[in-house]
Amino acid sequence: MNAEQQSTMLKSEIFVEHPITIENAIKLKVLFEGEYVAGGTLHQIQWESGVPLPSRLINLSCIEQLKKVRYEKNDENILAIGALTSIAECITHPEIVEHCPLLTEACRNIAAPAVRNRATIGGNVASGIGDAIPALLVLDAKVKIALKDQIYVIDLATWLKEKGSYPFLLLDILIPLQAKKTKSFYRKVGRREAFTASLVTVSCCWSKCGHNENSFIRIAVGGGTHFPIRLQKLEKLLTGSRSQITRDIIYNTILEEFHSYSDAFVTESYRKKVTANILTEKLETILREG
Ligand SMILES: Cc1cc2nc3c(=O)[nH]c(=O)nc-3n(C[C@H](O)[C@H](O)[C@H](O)COP(=O)(O)OP(=O)(O)OC[C@H]3O[C@@H](n4cnc5c(N)ncnc54)[C@H](O)[C@@H]3O)c2cc1C
Repeated sequence: MNAEQQSTMLKSEIFVEHPITIENAIKLKVLFEGEYVAGGTLHQIQWESGVPLPSRLINLSCIEQLKKVRYEKNDENILAIGALTSIAECITHPEIVEHCPLLTEACRNIAAPAVRNRATIGGNVASGIGDAIPALLVLDAKVKIALKDQIYVIDLATWLKEKGSYPFLLLDILIPLQAKKTKSFYRKVGRREAFTASLVTVSCCWSKCGHNENSFIRIAVGGGTHFPIRLQKLEKLLTGSRSQITRDIIYNTILEEFHSYSDAFVTESYRKKVTANILTEKLETILREG
């Protein structure tokens, strides 16, 4: 290493704080003006793609309170998953497997086992683009966040829209326990089978009532760098009596409601068509099934 390279390395020094309580992490965020890091795996990907690492990091990994998975009861029964729960634990934890098999399935589709051991569900959700988000949206998840010295519970979909405007600490993902007859579907589509960012990730959750009608259906799309959303127009169309609903109506509603993007590999139009094809096929099956 020559002198010039060495001085470049010294200039890029990173300062890391290691709080062990939630209160200290929040104080440090204000005083230190750093960025939270949990597993650091998304930071790693961004750094490898040329984004400089933040110069001040607040390492959350020593905060035991953020590692708990537990039941909570308020208006409904809820499974609260601590933000530091690893993606690997979301696949094996008995309560998560029993009550949120859709989340387990989504997590099985994230990265490779070594990354899943470090990566956290909190980091996946806080990133705003994680592949777990479409599954959590259709499970009607909420988030518990700390903002200064206050704690708030907010609907995940609402929070995703507004979270950029304040320095939150994500504490828990709150998932209402689903009724036994609720069914679900998750699909991540990539350019190849290996662990690459998805082209698109889709998820649905539904339940039937009498006369083969959907008592509810929730449908979400995300993946890649899409802003994850629920397809509420489509949900409305498919809820209750829907004898007039044809394949073409479903397909065109998806194209109308889902907005995508182009990059160096794939056009917006292709992403939209892939999404519409996958969802239409699945939704047709759901409509037909008893
Ligand atoms: C090889 C590889 C493959 C990958 N494949 C996938 C994939 O298939 N699908 C996918 O979704 N992701 C993938 N990722 C990205 C990443 O692993 C996941 O999104 C992971 O869940 C992020 O969690 P983390 O704890 O590592 O987040 P970090 O990198 O630590 O943080 C991510 C972001 O969230 C913020 N953050 C983290 N925790 C909190 C908190 N509690 N409160 C507030 N903000 C917080 C951080 O400040 C940062 O902005 C991959 C990464 C790698 C390296």
